[in-house]
Amino acid sequence: MKKEFIFIGPPGSGKGTQTKMLSEEYKLPHIDTGSLLREEVATGSEEGKLANSFMEKGQLVPINVVSEIIKKRLKQSDCNNGFILDGYPRSLEQARALDTILEEINKGTQTKPQVFYFDVPQEKLIERLVNRRSCPKCGAIYNIKTMKMKDINKCDKCGSTLTRREDDTEEVAVKRFKTYFEQTEPLINLYKQRGQLTKIDAGLEINEIYKNLTGAIK
Ligand code: AMP
Repeated sequence: MKKEFIFIGPPGSGKGTQTKMLSEEYKLPHIDTGSLLREEVATGSEEGKLANSFMEKGQLVPINVVSEIIKKRLKQSDCNNGFILDGYPRSLEQARALDTILEEINKGTQTKPQVFYFDVPQEKLIERLVNRRSCPKCGAIYNIKTMKMKDINKCDKCGSTLTRREDDTEEVAVKRFKTYFEQTEPLINLYKQRGQLTKIDAGLEINEIYKNLTGAIK
């Protein structure tokens, strides 16, 4: 059976870390709209410039841009056995767009992805964001405050110099939370009503969260 997973949670809830671990273990593609958009921005394309004008304000990129990216990605053959969606959908409108995309891809069969909701006390979130660093080469994510690292400026896995995301400042983070609470949180009720939602306590330690997550897979 196709394994389809969706991850919803506020910025800094640790979705990226957990979905990467799950992707490695389950050999499923990890599809993260934030990273796909950052790649588009880096190409300097018109679409990338448009996306960036929303990203730097902590707002959602227009649905037509994001849905096109997702549709193209989900049609690739490595998604034949399933996928992990990290950061999409982020609004009720996007959830409806995803229903249509999945119906098209699964040829009329309505699938019901399992949706994991990462619940974290709000006070932990900003701290996690401002201490987050990532490796531009291998994609590893670090928290320079809570993780034991050989050098807080270098990736433990491949040695590259770590970078900080431009939108991980406190100022933009506050705007990203506002966007999350206004537009993304309503999805929790939608998927709960549809019987697709699994809540995860994402305030715990990384390996404990992962154990609970894999234990809850249906
Ligand atoms: P993230 O890496 O998931 O924190 O996303 C970074 C930024 O990319 C967000 O603040 C949005 O501006 C944009 N973004 C990511 N995913 C989406 C999405 N599904 N819809 C619209 N914008 C998105």
